Formats: sequence, structure tokens, C-alpha cells
Amino acid sequence: MLPFQPEFPLVAGLCMYMTETEQFCDQAIKLHFIHFNKKMEVVRLPAVSRVAVCGGTHGNELSGVYLVRELQKKKGEKADNFSLTTVMSNPRAVEQCRRYIETDLNRCFTTAILSAPVSGETPYEMVRAQELNTLLGPRGTAKATDLICDLHNTTANMGLCFISSSDSDWIRLHICKHLQMEMPSVSVRYLTFDTEPSFLSSVAKHGFAMEIGPQPHGVVRADTFNTMKEGVRLMLDWIQKFNSGVLFDGEEMEVYTVVETIDYPRDAETHLITATIHPQLQDQDFSLLHPGDPLFLTFSGNTVTYKGTEALHPIFVNECAYYEKHIALQLAQKKKVVVPSIQLKRD
Ligand SMILES: [Zn+2]
Repeated sequence: MLPFQPEFPLVAGLCMYMTETEQFCDQAIKLHFIHFNKKMEVVRLPAVSRVAVCGGTHGNELSGVYLVRELQKKKGEKADNFSLTTVMSNPRAVEQCRRYIETDLNRCFTTAILSAPVSGETPYEMVRAQELNTLLGPRGTAKATDLICDLHNTTANMGLCFISSSDSDWIRLHICKHLQMEMPSVSVRYLTFDTEPSFLSSVAKHGFAMEIGPQPHGVVRADTFNTMKEGVRLMLDWIQKFNSGVLFDGEEMEVYTVVETIDYPRDAETHLITATIHPQLQDQDFSLLHPGDPLFLTFSGNTVTYKGTEALHPIFVNECAYYEKHIALQLAQKKKVVVPSIQLKRD
């Protein structure tokens, strides 16, 4: 076992079958990381004192629904060095096992909707978004919950994905890194949307969605449920350690940013889809899609290729809930983010 290997998973495994030049380069990479860590200043951050785990934001994504119910049974057990709130975000949709009743709750946390006057005509989810903003926020204030983990499932082959609107929130990135190290058999990735926040998780100071798939909506599978349960346990474990004063070393991390959305080919008159995701692309989330690669297979048997000019990473490929949103898949760019070492700021 190489002495550096546990600390440097990015370069781990490179040393087998290497030429002398390659071994020299490998050593140089390791030395670079040692200097990188030594030079880096430790960023001190306030405690993560109030945590909320939310499920059922989409009422038919059942891992989160059942995990929140499990966590609620443990209510009253000794809290750690933070308080934990559990929330069933959209109880009416959960009761009917539907994504939503009138409109998608997880697109209702925009400034416009949160500040709009409510009348008898206001859709249920918009009213509920304001209630949740009062309960867990208000967003952007000192009173807001420190961390929201909002639990979701996808029918796409996404593994375990942290989803947020920023690539510079060190608490979120360190929690993601903790899961990457502690759950080596699961693909754990960090994904950002560069748009106005509209997700429930945006109400907190450090909110994120924990998205796990593939799992059909309306179904709860043991493997997916257990991955989510372990992910949440590790997140709470990380918060406990951070609040106790443990120093977390910095590292370069991979972050995906969504840059493009692609709809299915549609009939010009009926607007019905005329193709499905190409078999070579189905389930290939986070692989690399090159210009000219197959994208769709039309119902008449023709292949439609990717016309973009740069290779990008497909995500949410053939997500069931996105047909109505006219999204067949999205494309993301991968980049490296230098995440600093962090430690609790003591008063
Ligand atoms: Zn969802």
C-alpha cells in the first residue's frame, strides 16, 4: 500500500504498471497535493446547528417518504450537537402517491412565488412553499435553517447526486466528499444548476437535494432505500464531527454544472414525441457524449445524433417526470473545484 493512497483518491491506482517517467509524474502530482494542502489556509465556519431532512417534496419518490417516516419514529431520541427536524414536504401529494397536486413544489421556491399574495385560487404547492419557507427559513435570513437535505429519487441512472445552485459552499462539498470516501461502491457526484434557486433546499444556508436513482416513481427498492439511509447517516455523522471541531482537509473535487437542456424530437403539429432515447445512451448518465454520438432513435427507426460542438456529460437521461417539462436529458460540464480545509469557528 502506498503511503499517500488513502489521502489522494484522485491519483490512487495510477502506480501499477508505470514507466519510470510516469512514476516520476505520479510522485510530482502527490507532492503538488502535499504543498497544496500545506499552503491552503483553513477556512473557519460557524456550527451547523439546525438541520432539516425533508422527504416527499415529490409525493411519489418513495425512498425519501419512507426514510422521513423512519426518522420521525426516532423523534425524541437524544439529539447530538445539532437539532434535527424532519419534514414531509408535500403531504397531500404523498397521500395520493403523485409528484404534485397542482404544480411542482420543487419549482415554487422562487422569490416571486414566495412573496406573492395568497388567495383561494393560489395552487396548493405555492401555498405550501410559503409555509415551508416560514417553517425552515425565511430564505436569506439569519433565522434560516443551517442545512436542508431534501430527499429525491430519479428514474435515471444517476447514482447518488448532491444537487445545489453553487459550487463554492464548502460545507456541502465536504459532506459530499465524506460520502464519496465512505461509500466507495456508490457513484457519489456533485451537480449544480446555474439558475435562480427554485428548490426547497435553497431555503437553508447550506441546502442540497440528495437525488438517488434509478428507481421507478411510486416504488421503494431496498437497495436505493438503503443507499439513501446510509447517505443521510453519513451526512449527520459529518455534521456531528464538524460541530465537535474536527479539521477536514481540503482537496480538489469534480463538480458538474448543467449547461444545456434537450427535448425529445416532436411532431410539429401534434407536439407528440417522435423518438425515444437511443439505446446506446439509455442509462449512460455522466458518461461523455461526443458530437455525432447517437442521441435518439425515432419510432420509424432512424438515429438522431448529438449536434453539439463539445463533448458533455448527459444527466437525467429519460427521467419519467421530465416528459411534461419537455426535457429528454440535460448536459453538464465537468470541472475541478479547489475545496479548502475547513474547521469550526469557535466564538
Ligand atoms: Zn424529486
